[in-house]
Amino acid sequence: MSEDYYKILGVSKNASEEEIKKSYKQLAKKYHPDVSKEPGAEGKFKELSEAYAVLSDKQKRQQYDTYGKEGFQQRYSSEDIFRGFDASQFEDLFGGSIFESFFGGSRGRRRNRGRDLRVSITLSFDEAMSGVQKELRIRKHDMCSDCEGTGAEDSEMEDCSACDGKGQVRKATRTPFGSFMQVGICSECSGQGKVPEIVCKTCGGSGSVEMTKKINTKIPAGVDNGSTLRVSGEGEYGTRGSGSGDLYIEIEVEDSEIFRREGDDLYLNLPITFAQAALGSDIKIPTLKKEVTIKIPSGSQSGTNIRLRGEGAPDVNQHGRGDIYVVLEVITPSKLSKEQKALFEKLAKLDEKKSILDKIKDWAKR
Ligand SMILES: [Zn+2]
Ligand SMILES: [Zn+2]
Repeated sequence: MSEDYYKILGVSKNASEEEIKKSYKQLAKKYHPDVSKEPGAEGKFKELSEAYAVLSDKQKRQQYDTYGKEGFQQRYSSEDIFRGFDASQFEDLFGGSIFESFFGGSRGRRRNRGRDLRVSITLSFDEAMSGVQKELRIRKHDMCSDCEGTGAEDSEMEDCSACDGKGQVRKATRTPFGSFMQVGICSECSGQGKVPEIVCKTCGGSGSVEMTKKINTKIPAGVDNGSTLRVSGEGEYGTRGSGSGDLYIEIEVEDSEIFRREGDDLYLNLPITFAQAALGSDIKIPTLKKEVTIKIPSGSQSGTNIRLRGEGAPDVNQHGRGDIYVVLEVITPSKLSKEQKALFEKLAKLDEKKSILDKIKDWAKR
């Protein structure tokens, strides 16, 4: 798994906005892909920028602090991460073109990235509680194996003539404020600077073919109805290797016959008899792991909760477990045997006597 955003930027967890910005500027200069000689500078620059985009945004930073990197990335796609990121504040430092290619969204290199895909799956309640390995079969455009996604026969590529192999084209844009030069991605080569020498017959030069792919994915314990998981890079394959989209798995969880879930807490309705409520009783109930015996105290009222700490649903980000609440429900018998009827009548007489006694006591106090 990739590194913590704070570590990437070399700042502490409680760094101020200023510190984060300063550190980003310094590191981004060092790894700027146009000037840096460091190996893997482009990836590093992107990683830095992603970390900055998250930590410089109050709301995203708070979500990141709450859910951790994995949880955060399940909630935000790369597009979401860079949405609202104001790249213009760094343009004087790095020049405009770099930001077009990294943060441009629809304008940038990502335009040619493969589409994101969405699928939905249904899990049983038990699968959601324990986590499960699922094999999905996804119909999608995936890498053409004949040309290894290059789109070229024998993987032979040549410089793109439309952009002289630069991958970018400059064009003048007219606006009401005058015309200025803009750098755009070359559409001939999708910004890669290379085109196939001979087009691959299998995929027609796109680098991808439609196929059904098996994807094995681990669904973490504790997922809830409506959770979405992101599987990075398992969306559709982009034009000639310009990056794959992501796969989003929407999860539906079947209801449990026993428990009702609220957040990570589970509620279990337990019907008990008058006698059990009045006299107290030991009752066996199921939890997620095993049967346990709980003590119903004498004099229990309908609606009383008995809490079993830490026996609830596991938190999907591994922050412990919720609780089980056993909700007592005192059942009024609807049919009585002769013997039961006699006993209840006896009980009623006792109650009546008692209430007359209480009345006399109250009267005496006056
Ligand atoms: Zn080109
Ligand atoms: Zn091909």
